[in-house]
Amino acid sequence: MKPLYHLIVSLILFMVFFLITGNPWSAVVLVSGFLIDLDHLLDFWLFLGFKRWYKISGEYYKEIGKALLVAHSLEIIFILALFYFLTREIALAMFIIGYCVHILMDMVHNYRRGVSQLNFWFIYRALQGFDLKKIAPFFYEN
Ligand SMILES: [Zn+2]
Repeated sequence: MKPLYHLIVSLILFMVFFLITGNPWSAVVLVSGFLIDLDHLLDFWLFLGFKRWYKISGEYYKEIGKALLVAHSLEIIFILALFYFLTREIALAMFIIGYCVHILMDMVHNYRRGVSQLNFWFIYRALQGFDLKKIAPFFYEN
């Protein structure tokens, strides 16, 4: 999904939470809902090197043939939720909400492309060898 859509939805979430609660920590929703996609840059940097790491493009994924997408992992949400229940930090709650909304948007987007929802588990992607032909075959369809 395009980062602009994540930014718009995260911005709306931030405004709603801020208007309801008046809590400045609501801004964390904006940060987590948008910045998760930085893991795409990590993939490009790892597999393409420093020269082209900053250019987000699906074509690069096709060239790489692999996608780690570390931050797009449901395991992280469960770990963060565990920390939240231990700490009850409102900022962490906002981070988790933004994170969940981002992942949910990506899941809906990928579902429409025929991609298995299992791909949002890091362990599943690892078992597939992070092979893009297995986890996101639409990249190789015409
Ligand atoms: Zn994403």
